[in-house]
Amino acid sequence: MLNSLNRMEKAFDIGLDSLVAEKRPPAPAPEIISGSPQRGTFYLETFGCQMNDHDSEKVAGVLLSRGYRQVESIDAASFILYNTCSIREKAAQKVFSRLGEFSEAPSQGKMIGVLGCVAQQEGEKIFHRSPWVNLVCGSASYSKLPELLSQLEAGEKRVTGLDTDTDETFETEMTRRDNPWRAYLTIIEGCDKACSYCVVPFTRGPERSRSSDSVLRELRQLAELGYTEVQFLGQTVNSYADPAPRKMKFSELLLVAAEMPGMRRVRFTTSHPRDFHPDIVEAIENNEKVCNHVHLPVQSGSTPVLRAMQRTYSRDEYLEKIAMMRNARRPIAITSDIIVGFPGETEADFEETLRLMQEVKYEAIFAFKYSPRPNTPAQSMPDAIPEEEKSRRLAVLLDLQRKIQTDANQKLIGQDFEVHVEGKSRKENQWSGHTSCNRVVNFSSSQPDLLGSYVRARVNGVTPNCLIGEQTI
Ligand code: SAM
Ligand code: SF4
Repeated sequence: MLNSLNRMEKAFDIGLDSLVAEKRPPAPAPEIISGSPQRGTFYLETFGCQMNDHDSEKVAGVLLSRGYRQVESIDAASFILYNTCSIREKAAQKVFSRLGEFSEAPSQGKMIGVLGCVAQQEGEKIFHRSPWVNLVCGSASYSKLPELLSQLEAGEKRVTGLDTDTDETFETEMTRRDNPWRAYLTIIEGCDKACSYCVVPFTRGPERSRSSDSVLRELRQLAELGYTEVQFLGQTVNSYADPAPRKMKFSELLLVAAEMPGMRRVRFTTSHPRDFHPDIVEAIENNEKVCNHVHLPVQSGSTPVLRAMQRTYSRDEYLEKIAMMRNARRPIAITSDIIVGFPGETEADFEETLRLMQEVKYEAIFAFKYSPRPNTPAQSMPDAIPEEEKSRRLAVLLDLQRKIQTDANQKLIGQDFEVHVEGKSRKENQWSGHTSCNRVVNFSSSQPDLLGSYVRARVNGVTPNCLIGEQTI
């Protein structure tokens, strides 16, 4: 998928612009747990990445299990929560302007909570800017949510969870998943990589992995509930370090997960080039259930810029990882994140990035204009690139990627793919889903109920962002 996005990770989700997802209700997630007291209603809105989406699913689970009921509108809610993102500037501004609309909340008996990266970054300042806010909690403190909610329920007006110095992961008894077939499962939280432009190490705390026992226990539950696809999540998912005595490697975890009865597909994102080793490629080669898609962000094609970004690899080292995948026995789709206009990025550096894209021929990219972020080393670096120039570079880069994708997709005409069907069009007999390599396929079929099933479709047309086809089996 070709993207210059605010919600970069959304593009990994199914691109159903013209389609209506006729979802079955999410797998059993009772609105109110029997035996728990009935409390108020909550509305939860999420900004940012897939990890935020999944954190929100777990936060919703915590609230539901305490007797709150989820509602789809702010008006119907007694507790309004925003799970925020601060990767780029505009996301934080958007949250503050949203909070500005709730000055009447206390007089209406409503509570307001701010969760996620903006909560962590702004901390108690949020109370000064929006005094009607009651809860400010960063993701590293989510395991304390039950405690914080108890304090609010006991009448406290302002509570915070802002500690990032933790070795705990956020595990819940209950998660309210939005997708009825594909489940997110966070296996590693936080980040220790310290890229010079990025707020994540400050907002999400240090890297901490969930034990393989706990991951596999949840996976078994998911399979029993009827999920057939899991997506392992982590800011650097392949840096997974099992704290359990069995010390399962990331590639082993993929293979064990793929063998779980009922699971048809195991995905993972995002991989960091430094920790991307041949055993991961071998896992993909040796087990069809491990999806043949790797998101391996490069950020820049210029070694001096990569050094200034503190990415811990050079252009050549990155290209060695790409060669490893392109030489695999099973074709692997490779996608990437790229930042344009990093401080000091010259025209020659930018052209190195374009050349790298021509060499790798990514199946999709997410491209961003560099945005200076608080507390990060890059914020005070000299030679900032003017906004117009960043926009120009972004447009050139996206134009090149569009051509690369159009050419690559053309070559797929006539090929068959297995499609996991996740959407139905308003147009009759039109369906949509993903391949194992994460391509979106819109296809025709006269069969009546395909949602959630796996079918084969033959490609007979393409756009830069999706394949068009018809069902064969
Ligand atoms: N951990 C992943 C990795 O290392 O690639 C990425 C996580 S980050 C949430 C997603 C993407 O946002 C990054 O890959 C980067 O391209 C982009 N990003 C992060 N900070 C940025 C900044 N200050 N300005 C522009 N883009 C940024
Ligand atoms: Fe941010 Fe770098 Fe960590 Fe990714 S690896 S989350 S870009 S610090």
